[in-house]
Amino acid sequence: FLRSMDITDLESQLGSLNIIVVDDEPIARMVLTKGLKKCGYKNITSVESSRKALELIENGSFNVALCDVLMPDMDGMQLLTEIRKLPHTTDMSVIMVSATEDLSIVYKCLSQGADDYMVKPIRIPQLKNLWSNIWKKKKERAILQQLQEEKTKTDSLGIELQNLQSQLSDLTSKIDQAVDTPITAITRTIGDLQSGANLTPEVKNALSQVLQSLASSNLYKPAFNKILDNQTVDGTTKKWLMTELGGMTNPGVPTTVDTDYGKVHWSSSNEEQVRELRSFEYDVWSKKEDDLVVYLHNIFDDFGLLDMFKVDRVKFKRFLLNIRSRYIAKNPYHNFIHGFDVTQSAYAYLTDGEGASYLNHLEIFALLVSCICHDVGHFGLSNVFLMATRHELAIRYNDQSVLENFHCATAFTVLEDPDCNIFENLDKAQYTTVRKLMIGCILATDLSKHMELFNKFQATIESFQADNADHHLLLMQILIKSADISNPAKPFPVARYWADMVQEEFFIQGDKERSEGMEISGFMDRDNPNIAGLQTGFADYFVIPVFTLLEKFLPKTKPCLEMLLTNRKTWENIKQQAELKD
Ligand SMILES: [Zn+2]
Repeated sequence: FLRSMDITDLESQLGSLNIIVVDDEPIARMVLTKGLKKCGYKNITSVESSRKALELIENGSFNVALCDVLMPDMDGMQLLTEIRKLPHTTDMSVIMVSATEDLSIVYKCLSQGADDYMVKPIRIPQLKNLWSNIWKKKKERAILQQLQEEKTKTDSLGIELQNLQSQLSDLTSKIDQAVDTPITAITRTIGDLQSGANLTPEVKNALSQVLQSLASSNLYKPAFNKILDNQTVDGTTKKWLMTELGGMTNPGVPTTVDTDYGKVHWSSSNEEQVRELRSFEYDVWSKKEDDLVVYLHNIFDDFGLLDMFKVDRVKFKRFLLNIRSRYIAKNPYHNFIHGFDVTQSAYAYLTDGEGASYLNHLEIFALLVSCICHDVGHFGLSNVFLMATRHELAIRYNDQSVLENFHCATAFTVLEDPDCNIFENLDKAQYTTVRKLMIGCILATDLSKHMELFNKFQATIESFQADNADHHLLLMQILIKSADISNPAKPFPVARYWADMVQEEFFIQGDKERSEGMEISGFMDRDNPNIAGLQTGFADYFVIPVFTLLEKFLPKTKPCLEMLLTNRKTWENIKQQAELKD
């Protein structure tokens, strides 16, 4: 109301103002009312007592009140106080009128919220300027208040800036912390900045883009791509540079998710067998090994994968039998049952865990085939042992994820056999994608990549993008990885059996180390067994962190985390009992 008015319009506004005059003396009231009318004010109400005035003000809408200071019963000061308590009169101007020029009363009125003060007898020019004076004062006050608000804002921005600076300086010390990788410290600090401070949407957006870039596996490639875009490089040169310098081994692979494969459903078949296979509590030890190949058919058919990708069923069976034959059956742990178990576990996370809702059919196809093949040909010895003994595979793969490279290459060797090629009807782009995803998944099962993968997923969880192919692969890697270390997240009898199998395979390596005169690796010394220590350590450093993250992203996997924590307690009890015996 005030702001919309220009001072030159004030004259014309006078007629529309509602004024109330409060004075116990009839003559004083009459003089004021007449004077106001002469000046152009039209809507004037006059009352003889504060109580009556208050009643009218409570129920009406007055712009100005002229109040006598000295009145019987309730005086002008009390009336002023009551008016200022009313919520709808904040814009109402109250002018105190008094016969005395006593400065202490003037001061008291103004400090109690009066807008102005007039001394009787009041003259016409005073009344004429009444409204413009009020208006000017209000405007002054509004400007002052605005300035004050700006100052407060500036002050708080300064404090905020100081906070940000101190948080940023903490970053340096955080980087030095041994438990974190530098990138984790940086992403965590940026995360703190995002949530802690009262930032503008633009800054928040910028920070989340920084986080996404940091979580990317190709930290330098996007920038490289942009540089090429900005240069006047011809198409052939650009493609050549991207392939050679950009490390893009598969130039045909799209960087966004192909949505051509339709929404994934997994409830087409709901027979008892499939429902059992989807369960987090599946007991693989209650099954006959020969039936596992049939169950793998059920799993692939539950997503309709064999029909969708035109997989010859005979070839699919041959492929499974070929892979199974290459798993070394006499390994206590790394045999075909483990390959099946990882596939079934990943299948459970996709279905009962609802992970499939984040992926497309081609990705699920690649993930499940990866699970089946992920340890094929494993001969029960660790990467560290193969490197230490200069095994031919360590030499071939330059000590880089030796076994995982071997498993993946073995899988693709089998797939190259026309009798086992379940990918024969994929088009070129599909095959390139599946190959890239399978390599990504199988190499992700290298435990020495655990922290890197864990940190990347942690940094991506909040900003997971449905159309980002890197994010899809990261989720697939976490799923195969979770499945690969899922034994402790099974019902205890199942978990216990797996624990015994791992322990036995470790002992066999320990025996080899002893006979070769090497130092025996941790938990591998048959003469110094500590199965509970192995299980609690494995749970604490690998399985619990991963399943905690998994549960955060896929809340339906909570039962796995619960079984895991229960089993952890059971192993702790076993450990304590063993220590008591010693
Ligand atoms: Zn494995």
